[in-house]
Amino acid sequence: MRQLKVLLSVIVALTFILVPTSSISNAATKTLYVHFINVGQGDSIYIKAPNGEDILIDGGNKDGSDVVAYLKKQKVKDIEVMIATHPDADHIGGLDEVLKAFPVKSVYAPRVGSTTQAYKDFLTAVKNKKLTIKVAKADVVLPIKGVSAKFVGPVKSYNTSDTNDWSAVLKVTYGKKSFLFTGDAETKAETDMVKAKKDLRADVLKVGHHGAKTSTSATLLKAVKPSYAVISVGKNSYGHPTSEVLNRLKSYKVKVFRTDKQGTIIATTNGTTLTFNVKPIY
Ligand SMILES: [Zn+2]
Repeated sequence: MRQLKVLLSVIVALTFILVPTSSISNAATKTLYVHFINVGQGDSIYIKAPNGEDILIDGGNKDGSDVVAYLKKQKVKDIEVMIATHPDADHIGGLDEVLKAFPVKSVYAPRVGSTTQAYKDFLTAVKNKKLTIKVAKADVVLPIKGVSAKFVGPVKSYNTSDTNDWSAVLKVTYGKKSFLFTGDAETKAETDMVKAKKDLRADVLKVGHHGAKTSTSATLLKAVKPSYAVISVGKNSYGHPTSEVLNRLKSYKVKVFRTDKQGTIIATTNGTTLTFNVKPIY
């Protein structure tokens, strides 16, 4: 009997030791952060999930030093999920440097390649980390706790020259708030996702292809019904973002943020409320 009592008190003591106090204090302040990093003309989005896991979507156009510095400033130790939306240099350009700078658990990319040096550097960096690329396509779920993170595109295969339409499109939902990250998906891919009845509804839309008129179709906007849109764009000769897209967003009453005018845009949500570090520009 006495031995049983001792055993019980040991179990009680162990329970207290084994429940880390950090998990108790975190429970009240669980927050999802989405950083649309200002990388000039290109995309790089860093998501800090409520349980502390890190997702990086694309790595900008340059040598990656800007993204690495930004992540270090955010005290990122490792990256659970890296996503290369498609092989274009303004998206994967910096990912090799990020791979060199941080431990990375998984890399996702669509099943399309490129002959560019930037893409070769990316593949080499993945190989040097002894990682194999996981296929990013509709219905693939990311292993991130506390949120729903699921690819809703691409829903089919495209010509290898149409790399934009191959873009991995990710929907992240935390509580009542959701985000849609579209890479450079253009009208064809947008229409295919809508036709395939993918769940595209989101509070925040990362505008496709830096505001090119061949993306962010009315068909997509009707399905997403965003309250906010973020355009990741820098100095460019393509006329991004186009007045067509800005007008479409306006006609659907979407509030707009721009990295070229406002720098890095940070969205913060506890699953109920959603705030930004700056006010919408339109
Ligand atoms: Zn792009």
